[in-house]
This record gives sequence, C-alpha cells and structure tokens, in this order.
Amino acid sequence: MLFSQNIEILETVDVLVAGGGPAGICAAVSAARAGARVVLIERFGILGGMLTCGHVNPILGSVSAGTIADELLQLFKASRSATDTRITRNGRENEIDPEVVKSILGPFLKQSGVDYYLHCPLVDVIMDGRSIDVVVIGTPTGLAGIRAKVCIDATGDGTLSFLSGAPYWIGREPDGRCQPTTLEFTISHVDETKAIFCFGGSDPVKLESGEEYRKVCQRAQAAGELPANVSIVRLHKTPHAGERSVNATQANNHDVLSLGGIRDAELELRQQIGLCIEFLRTNIPGYEHCLLKSSASALGVRETRRIKGEYMLCDRDVEEGSRFADVVVHKAWFLIDIHNPSGSGQAEGQSKMARPYDIPYRCLVPLDIDNLLLAGRCMSGTHRAHASYRVMTICMAMGQAAGIAAAVCSLADIRPRDLDVSLLQQKLTGCSIDLFG
Ligand SMILES: Cc1cc2nc3c(=O)[nH]c(=O)nc-3n(C[C@H](O)[C@H](O)[C@H](O)COP(=O)(O)OP(=O)(O)OC[C@H]3O[C@@H](n4cnc5c(N)ncnc54)[C@H](O)[C@@H]3O)c2cc1C
Repeated sequence: MLFSQNIEILETVDVLVAGGGPAGICAAVSAARAGARVVLIERFGILGGMLTCGHVNPILGSVSAGTIADELLQLFKASRSATDTRITRNGRENEIDPEVVKSILGPFLKQSGVDYYLHCPLVDVIMDGRSIDVVVIGTPTGLAGIRAKVCIDATGDGTLSFLSGAPYWIGREPDGRCQPTTLEFTISHVDETKAIFCFGGSDPVKLESGEEYRKVCQRAQAAGELPANVSIVRLHKTPHAGERSVNATQANNHDVLSLGGIRDAELELRQQIGLCIEFLRTNIPGYEHCLLKSSASALGVRETRRIKGEYMLCDRDVEEGSRFADVVVHKAWFLIDIHNPSGSGQAEGQSKMARPYDIPYRCLVPLDIDNLLLAGRCMSGTHRAHASYRVMTICMAMGQAAGIAAAVCSLADIRPRDLDVSLLQQKLTGCSIDLFG
C-alpha cells in the first residue's frame, strides 16, 4: 500500500473487470453492450483463464436459454469448422480446442468495445472508505492505477475482493480443505479404432478385454504405476480425432494462495504427467503410441476463496433446485462434483445430482464493499454448492449478469447493493434470456 499511494492513474472508466476467464470475458462484454466504458485486466498473456491456460475441456454445465454462454459456444463451434476432425460418438458438442479459443476472445472483447490489458496483474487497491478508489496494476514500467465506478472480481481466487478487505470462506466447512489442483494436458496419436473415452470415476466404460477401465486405473494406483492420489485417468474428447484431453493429475493440500504452494503444486503435477502417459501406453488399447501434445500453462485451481455475499448459495438450494425472486441465472445445473480434498477420487463416493437452480443477484454482491460485484467461481456459496456452480457455462452466465448490473450501477451512480433487481432482470430478459420459465 505504501508504494501505491503516489502512482500514476492511467485512466478512469465506468467498469473495471479483474480477470479474463469465462466469467470476466462475459462480464466485460455484457457491461460494454449495456453502454459502459469498460476495461478488463488479465495477469497472463492469454485470455480465457482455465478455458485456455488451464486446458480445461469440455465446457460443462447448463443454464436457461439465451445467455451469452450460448453465444460463445456458437462462436467456438463456428470457428473450429476448418480444423475440426471430431469423431461423433454422442450428441455433445461442447468440447473446444484451447488454441482456437485463444485467438477468438480478444476480437470478441474488442468488437464489443471492451478495452483490455494483458500481462497486467492486479496487485493492490486504494480504498476510499468502503469503496475501491483505485485498482493498482503491475505494468512493464512499474505500478499504475485505474479508477472505476464499479469493479467486478472475476479473478477466480477472489483477489480483488480480498485486497479490498471483503470477508470470505476457504474450503469445506469442517476443516477448510479445498478441492485438489490439476494440470490438464492433451495427447495425440490415439488410435480411434480401439481407444475408449472416460468421463470420470463413475463412468463404467470397459476395455476390449471386458474389464472396467476404472478398475485398471485403481490397480495401477495401488501398484504405484499411477501417482498415489490418482485413481482415474479421465479421457475427454477434443474436436480432433486421435486426441484426448486428459484430466488426471492431482495435488492435494497445497496452499495455492501462497507462492510456495503454487510452486510445489506445479512441481508435483508436472512430474505426474509422464506417469499418466506411461500408464496409458502400457495398459490401454489404442493408447500405445500416444504423445504429449500440449499441457496447461496455468495451474488448474478448482477452489480457493469464496467471497461472502448478501446471500450464500446453500447445499439445499443446489440439491432441491431453489427459486429466488432476485434470480439472475436461471436453471443453473451441474453435478455436485467434489474432487476429494484429502485423497483420490470423489469426496462423496461419486458426484451427486443437483436440480436446476436459480442464482440470486445477492450471491454476486459482496459484503462490506460498496462498488464491487462478483462473477465466476469466487461467488458466494458453500463448498458443496460451489462444486456445482464452478463450471464454465454457469460462470459465463454469472458474468453476464454481473456485467449488466455493473453497467447500470455505474451509469446511474448507484451502489450494486441498492440496485433495483427487476431492472436488471428486464435487461437480461431483453437479451432473450429465459429467467422465469
Ligand atoms: C482441473 C480443472 C478441471 C475442470 N474441468 C472443467 C470442465 O471439464 N468443464 C467445465 O466447464 N469446468 C471445469 N472446471 C471448472 C472451470 O474451469 C472453472 O471453475 C472456471 O473456469 C472458473 O471461471 P472463472 O472465470 O471464475 O475463473 P478462471 O477461469 O480461473 O479465470 C480467472 C482469470 O482471472 C485471471 N486473474 C487471476 N488473478 C488475477 C490478478 N491478480 N490480476 C489479473 N488477472 C488475474 C486469471 O489469470 C484468469 O484468466 C475445471 C477446473 C479445473 C481447475
């Protein structure tokens, strides 16, 4: 903070979005479309967050029709037609090629009138009472500041809220442990005439021999051929034949909000990639000649801070499909998918079903800070609810709601917590979003 007091203010905007992942991109575009002058800051040189730098694939979860998530999926599908060699074994078409997505998101922001900066980490804030006065960023020439009437925290880790002094939770309620981290990677040279897919530890897919694939993984884990906390090597489709997106490596119990924790998790996970590939080559038909094609450039962090908001989305809301008068994301749906915080596999035996639920506006409004909104995985909810709403389709829809809310508040000079939610709902339904069906 001492260094931040005399910094140069680069610009003053209506809305600042911190983080260019699925939630931040959708927040920034939606705020700009709603008439605000918007700047987005991203610490990496690539937009997309987990979608690109994390190699996360496919885009999972669902929300009601008409949101910006539909628009982005269409954009991804249209742009991959030139390179698409996908083999269709089921009707899902939400798998993406991170390399293709990397070049789509910049123009998507620009065309909507969003200004953005890359290699631009948020490092500090200067507060004016309960409001963020200046967002302090790192630039190639040192620290600089941006002023915004309303800010959106889409950093995943809730960094902007944390720096502003907003209260938060970490990890599951009894012991504070978070879901493990993973480095996803893509393999090529898979023989499609023999090779299986596998969605997760509950997928009963069998090998040619009739043996269940998950049993083969568990045996390799017990024999030390797979890392001690890897009981399943998930093999997801990509848009290309002969490729798999592999979600398998797992590091538990690292504090990935500390520099040492990030280093140690990365170190552990990079070593695991080779073991997983060797396991596939040796044991699984069709994978004998598979090669590492590419891997995530950012640590895959499932869970860190969940910022306390005006409402906390509860386990029951997700399990029973709660409806709220201040709904801004309708029919959000995904499994309660808790990767085990203290061992291999899933925390609850296997992922639990959820019912399509509403996300109320109050989950996006943090306590204590007056000009801040939340979008994405740092939204206000319990550990188990988070395990459902953290998937990308739902984060995109949250981003849209937060973006429009921020634009309305900044242009009308009102605090997000004082916003008349019916006005936001009108604007969302004006975008053809089915909020009340
Ligand atoms: C291993 C793994 C597998 C997953 N599998 C799936 C899956 O198959 N399907 C699915 O839909 N979801 C999956 N998820 C969940 C999903 O990817 C994330 O929850 C989702 O991307 C969250 O979106 P977000 O925009 O909130 O955060 P992120 O995608 O993390 O984006 C946050 C952005 O903020 C930036 N940022 C962070 N701090 C700063 C800072 N200080 N300054 C500037 N910028 C900053 C980051 O660089 C990043 O670009 C998976 C997650 C992980 C980790």
